[in-house]
Amino acid sequence: MKKLILGFAVLVATLQVEAQDLYMPRNIQKAYANGTRDISGAPGKNYWQNGAIYNMKIKVDAQTKIVSGSEIIEYSNNSPDDLKTLVLRFEPNLHKPQSSRGHYVPEDFLSAGLTIKSLTVNGETYQTDSNFGTVTGIRLKNAIAAKSKAEVKIEWEYPLSKMSGREGQIDDSTFFVAYSYPKISVYDDYNGWNTLEHTDRQEFYNDFNSFNAEISAPKNFVVWSAGDLLNPEEVLQPEFLKRYQESLKTDKLIHVATEQEMKSGKVTQQNDWNVWKFKAENITDFTFALSDHYVWDASSVQLKTKRVSVQSAYKSGAKDFEQYVGWMQYNLPWFSENWPGVEYPFSKMTAVQGFADMEYPMMINDSSMPNNFAFAQLVADHEIAHTYFPFYMGINEQRYAFMDEGWATTFEYLIGISEQGQEKADEFYKNFRVRRYINDPSAEEDQPIITMSTQVSGMGYGSNSYGKASLSYLALKDYLGDDVFKKALHHYMDNWNGKHPIPWDFFYSMNTGSGQDLNWFWKNWFFSYHYIDLKIENAQQSNQQLKIDVDNVGGFAIPFDVKITYTDGSSESKHFTPEVWKNNEKKTSLTISAPKSVKSINIDGGIFMDYTPEDNQKTL
Ligand SMILES: [Zn+2]
Repeated sequence: MKKLILGFAVLVATLQVEAQDLYMPRNIQKAYANGTRDISGAPGKNYWQNGAIYNMKIKVDAQTKIVSGSEIIEYSNNSPDDLKTLVLRFEPNLHKPQSSRGHYVPEDFLSAGLTIKSLTVNGETYQTDSNFGTVTGIRLKNAIAAKSKAEVKIEWEYPLSKMSGREGQIDDSTFFVAYSYPKISVYDDYNGWNTLEHTDRQEFYNDFNSFNAEISAPKNFVVWSAGDLLNPEEVLQPEFLKRYQESLKTDKLIHVATEQEMKSGKVTQQNDWNVWKFKAENITDFTFALSDHYVWDASSVQLKTKRVSVQSAYKSGAKDFEQYVGWMQYNLPWFSENWPGVEYPFSKMTAVQGFADMEYPMMINDSSMPNNFAFAQLVADHEIAHTYFPFYMGINEQRYAFMDEGWATTFEYLIGISEQGQEKADEFYKNFRVRRYINDPSAEEDQPIITMSTQVSGMGYGSNSYGKASLSYLALKDYLGDDVFKKALHHYMDNWNGKHPIPWDFFYSMNTGSGQDLNWFWKNWFFSYHYIDLKIENAQQSNQQLKIDVDNVGGFAIPFDVKITYTDGSSESKHFTPEVWKNNEKKTSLTISAPKSVKSINIDGGIFMDYTPEDNQKTL
């Protein structure tokens, strides 16, 4: 017994040494010390997160373009802290002229922003002047006690901006209504209240909440939304109700409503206002769209444990959007069965034609690319892949965008191989995700991936969040092999599904899930100023052995192929995983058996594009 305890103590001590091995900000060290996070990678024994039920009534006036609403938020403060302040967020305030933004906007993007008409917390009334950006803190007269519930009631209104980004007017009578309700910001165990403004660059960080939404839309407007439609018979006329209901049961593409039918006043019930009721549980945001002329296509797809509704709403004639239902019938099962290999978690996915190329839980808003189906499909794949990261996993995208964009980029590449073939997928990934980054030698590109997303901009933000992060995941896949990589990824996903992981939870979950100490790899990829650049220092052949000394000039631990061309014209290729950099990330010596006389060699990283490919070849 004593031996066992001693053994356990040694194990814990070893894990602690490993944990200390990676740089960790002081506030996050505290979370580990407090036991809300754990060096095994799992949520700590003291882990908590807050959440709420949002009961909302939202009305969209198609004439004035004003969205107005009222909500009763049942908030659970599961934290050990009394909350003396309540932090509210309203992302569409990005349109206010005074708000901080990451980029220039045209005048049509600007609007007046949110008016809070009333606000009560646990029955106490608060005055607010609505004079704030996307975040505001309200000093409470009575704190919300630790481990207690609070009721927050808000009435509000705001105008939809004429030019839409992630939300707003798509055309004069088509609206994408996202982030449309004042929400309680995340209060977490490592930062307390999240008070970072939304500037349109970094994306979002939300609690897992449940939503009961009643959306009032004018006659002849159809509402597409996250969540399940509870009252289709109250809002659709019988013929269209029949088509909609059939779409939930069939693989066939159903044209629920054409443009002509939408315009003829046949589709919705002929009330001045129809109230569309939706329910969505345990999701991180609630979004809807409405139009009086968009085409409505729908079908569904059978996954292992459930049938999922797939719908698209688009402008008549958008050739790529005519394909969307079919694309979703392909990508939902593909993601479920292959990568990440976790069943699509929702009951529905709706694609709406807009301008954002943006994901929302159970919805995407994509621009139309009718002349490039391959690219349009890839964007659809990318946005839907986000279902897993950030939505299934509760990622803090504002601080750690690589924890979601890197994965969506990786899954987009992997599904792209199945859709377009290896060669085209590689070519696309290189051109779209790597080439610009690797050929730009400026300092922005080489900031450590771990850098907080709010502290980088331009290409620094783009490369850290998308390309470099995705390359790191693909390098790890190559290093561990598909089976161990998937086992580790599933370990991480099981640990943190429905919670709020941070990068260290990912690193430690992958260590535990793979049964390996990968800290050398995390340090190499996430905590360094590395880039991709190999160089053949020396190569010689003797006794049917080829010895190659490779310098890792850029530093990233990448996989690569050595391509050998023999003097007789034949050639062969040998693959090396990032393992070769484990003990020395600067240099490696490769010994390859070479039965014939070697003419030349070439080191090819494939999608791991080299900054100076000219020194990757050598003629012997
Ligand atoms: Zn993305």
